[in-house]
Amino acid sequence: MKDSRKRPFCQPWRPVVGWPHMSRAYLDHAASTPLDPRAAEAVVRALAVAGNPSSVHAEGRAARALIETAREQVAALVAAPASSVVLTSGATEANAIAIRGAFAFAARRAPGRRLRLLASPVEHSSVMDALQVLERDHDAEIVMLPVDDDGVVRIEGVPAFLNDDVAVVAVMYANNVTGVLQPVEAIGALVAAERTRRGKDALPLVFICDAVQAARTEALRPFKSGIDVLTLSSHKIHGPKGVGALIRRPGVILEPLVAAGGQEDGLRGGTENVAAIAGFGAAAELLVGEMKNDALAASALRGAFLNRLASASQGRIRPAVSAPTVPGIVYVVGHGLGEEAVMRLDSQGFAVSAGSACDAGKRRASHVLAAMRGGREGGVRVSFGRGTRQEELVALADALAAFR
Ligand code: PMP
Repeated sequence: MKDSRKRPFCQPWRPVVGWPHMSRAYLDHAASTPLDPRAAEAVVRALAVAGNPSSVHAEGRAARALIETAREQVAALVAAPASSVVLTSGATEANAIAIRGAFAFAARRAPGRRLRLLASPVEHSSVMDALQVLERDHDAEIVMLPVDDDGVVRIEGVPAFLNDDVAVVAVMYANNVTGVLQPVEAIGALVAAERTRRGKDALPLVFICDAVQAARTEALRPFKSGIDVLTLSSHKIHGPKGVGALIRRPGVILEPLVAAGGQEDGLRGGTENVAAIAGFGAAAELLVGEMKNDALAASALRGAFLNRLASASQGRIRPAVSAPTVPGIVYVVGHGLGEEAVMRLDSQGFAVSAGSACDAGKRRASHVLAAMRGGREGGVRVSFGRGTRQEELVALADALAAFR
């Protein structure tokens, strides 16, 4: 038999590393999901296509066909037309194009006016960073919407901030640290009402929703929900890393960050990462077929984990939030949890996180947890999904309960 360890993209579904008989439990799907082998196959097949998708010859057309198929597959995941999908290098870039692109267009329409952007204080760092750039370089007014103790936007508090100068409202679908769902449809309705109030030739107002953590288990219907731009990431839906998308409602105008190249409707220039895009498309198509099962399985896993945790820890370790969440993310708090616990769990074979991978890289306190009530208590984020086994979560619950 050949040694599969020499062929990285042919690794088994759940990699087994370390000592004999010791397998790892990968419970950090919110940071990145395991690549589905069927999506990996699509990547490998696409790598064999030599052409540049912008070339007119047969090889170029073959590459273009892979991209357009993937665009349709991603569009189908969110029940949107393929023409609304802009492929990017990931959700970080999609969020930056959406926020800065919407702002740039509005600023061009209203020269000299100080524009306002509204956001929840629990947005992903890629959203926060895009907002900060606008504040620093363009004197934009950034307003954080009020949230409750679980980090859920207080919808009744939004209208007070929605005035004629608001160009962007950015509220995520589900939080990447706690999994908490935001009242996205209600925000969409407020934005639509505000747009009607303003009338036809007023400042454009764009509702941007980062749906990266919701896409695994929630049926996303952005345009029905009043969302103007939705952002997605391939590696959070069992696709390859380094590719994502923004889904733009027809008629919403964004300006490109890099005005060069012309690809992706002029919004994201540069030769496309064809293989990654093909893998993203395959992952999206798989998800359309498997989301119901994935969501049910994740709910069952969540229940089993929390039950075991409650009994094994005698209630000392508990979920940090009581608001509804996506099923596959649980943030638990309790004495002894935090960064050090995550390191210790790693050495015991469990991959979990103390918050968001992006925040961890910067070594700063999570702004998400700071915005929440219990933010000072140490916690661990456990996230799981397709391929996770109940035994892994039960074993983790016992390991967590052993912390003092
Ligand atoms: N938004 C959220 C909510 C995320 O969890 C992440 C990934 N950590 C991103 C955006 C960024 O996605 P990407 O890794 O594709 O840039």
